[in-house]
Amino acid sequence: MAECIFCMVASGEIPANVVYEDDMVVAFDDIAPQGPVHTLIIPRTHYAHLGDDVPDELLGRLLAVVPKVAESKGIAGSGYRVIINTGKDASQTVHHLHVHVIGGKPMSHGMVNFADA
Ligand code: AMP
Ligand code: ZN
Repeated sequence: MAECIFCMVASGEIPANVVYEDDMVVAFDDIAPQGPVHTLIIPRTHYAHLGDDVPDELLGRLLAVVPKVAESKGIAGSGYRVIINTGKDASQTVHHLHVHVIGGKPMSHGMVNFADA
């Protein structure tokens, strides 16, 4: 999709530190990492979010790649958190489906930060 920043990453128009890629997905480091490891996994095809009629096979691939990324980043043993922000209330800012893989140091147990908390 024209004007979509992650479509441009997938096509190579915008540079990124790519850590994994295959025929369906690309994984690259987040430009503003929220931890020692913060990698995004995106489909090559544009889907706005998780509810955008994403094919099951692609959903499977997006998650299947998570442990591969974790392995290559050296956090497979120490653990990591996987986040998919979806829509307004989740503060999704880039409207091309993406999976966050975050790790590299211990996180608190809570995983929800409401804006009015
Ligand atoms: P979200 O809030 O779930 O939509 O997350 C979007 C993420 O994309 C944020 O963590 C941004 O730092 C990240 N991001 C935005 N532009 C780029 C880019 N060009 N390369 C890598 N990460 C990016
Ligand atoms: Zn896109």
